[in-house]
Amino acid sequence: MKPADRVERVPPSGIRRFFELAEERDDIISLGVGEPDFSAPWSALTAAIDALERGKTSYTANRGRNDLRKAISNHARRYDLKYDPETEILVTAGASEAIDLAMRALVNPGDGVAVPQPSYISYVPGVTFAGGEPVPVPTTADDEFVLTRDALEAAGAGDAEALVLCYPNNPTGATMSRDELADVAAFVRENDLFVLSDEIYAALTYDGEHTSIATLPEMRERTVVFNGFSKAYAMTGLRLGYALGPEEAINAMNRIHQYSMLSAPITAQYAALEALRTCEDEVVEMRDEYNRRRRFVLSRFDEMGLDCFDASGAFYAFPACGGDDEAFAETLLREQGVAVVPGSVFGEGGEGHLRVSYATGMADLREAMNRIETFVRER
Ligand code: PMP
Repeated sequence: MKPADRVERVPPSGIRRFFELAEERDDIISLGVGEPDFSAPWSALTAAIDALERGKTSYTANRGRNDLRKAISNHARRYDLKYDPETEILVTAGASEAIDLAMRALVNPGDGVAVPQPSYISYVPGVTFAGGEPVPVPTTADDEFVLTRDALEAAGAGDAEALVLCYPNNPTGATMSRDELADVAAFVRENDLFVLSDEIYAALTYDGEHTSIATLPEMRERTVVFNGFSKAYAMTGLRLGYALGPEEAINAMNRIHQYSMLSAPITAQYAALEALRTCEDEVVEMRDEYNRRRRFVLSRFDEMGLDCFDASGAFYAFPACGGDDEAFAETLLREQGVAVVPGSVFGEGGEGHLRVSYATGMADLREAMNRIETFVRER
């Protein structure tokens, strides 16, 4: 059997290939994963265990349990996002499913979808699987990887139908202020685009408040927002996320979801409901700990002379490595046993950089930074 053409067009993940190298040894410190090192808050896990003990193992409503959608609706208000739990919220198997659904439900074959780069690795394949045409929009270290109107214009994004946004950003850790988003929103309105805004790192914003582009004038009706429990609540394996958007968009996404997934996993829905109800303190504790590590990592890069902008969100630093990032990362792994991800894996603008995740305990982080310093000094 031969894969379909649109599948053949998408190469295997560059991150995977790199990690297969790392798995061959057991002395590696990995700063490569995009996954919290914490466990999920205990009360959320207890709620999942309780649900299992009560035999709650059925499907739920396609859109997700009612109480969970209400809790999500309440939670979103902290970002000034107001969505009706009945019609404007869809609970999914991770933000990943929500992103995939939005692309399949809203992008027509041949439609251009602008994807700022460097970018999280799933967007370009997602656009391709949906039959759309990815339009890369390079962002630069000079702009601290913030998306600008100039970058959108230079890439011809005005001819696209949609724009993907991801702030706080994976892989750069960049965030965008309300003013910066306002320029992007103006471009979006003028060119009649719609926006797929991945805000899964919203809770991991270290300087000031997270702003959603959907809260800017006339943007709510043209934006779908994605969030989930993987990052803020350290629940990656429970596979729970959601989309917030105008009724028409959510209905279209649910049309696919009800046939392809039926419902998000019920055990995870119980855990998520409890997480929203009682785990705010844990979220703040994890965020404060990431922030401590962030400041440590940034100051260490500064000391060893690797240029790194002051990334203020998610759990990534994105230093320049002064040369070929793939060679740097492979040699660093071989000689010092530290795994980081070469920036070029994330598309245009990522070359010459490294994605360094600080979702790793402080002891390992210290040792890893010492090894990177030794490596840099010996080069
Ligand atoms: N979006 C971004 C930007 C991510 O970094 C990730 C996880 N690596 C996801 C989405 C996927 O999240 P989930 O586990 O909710 O599917």
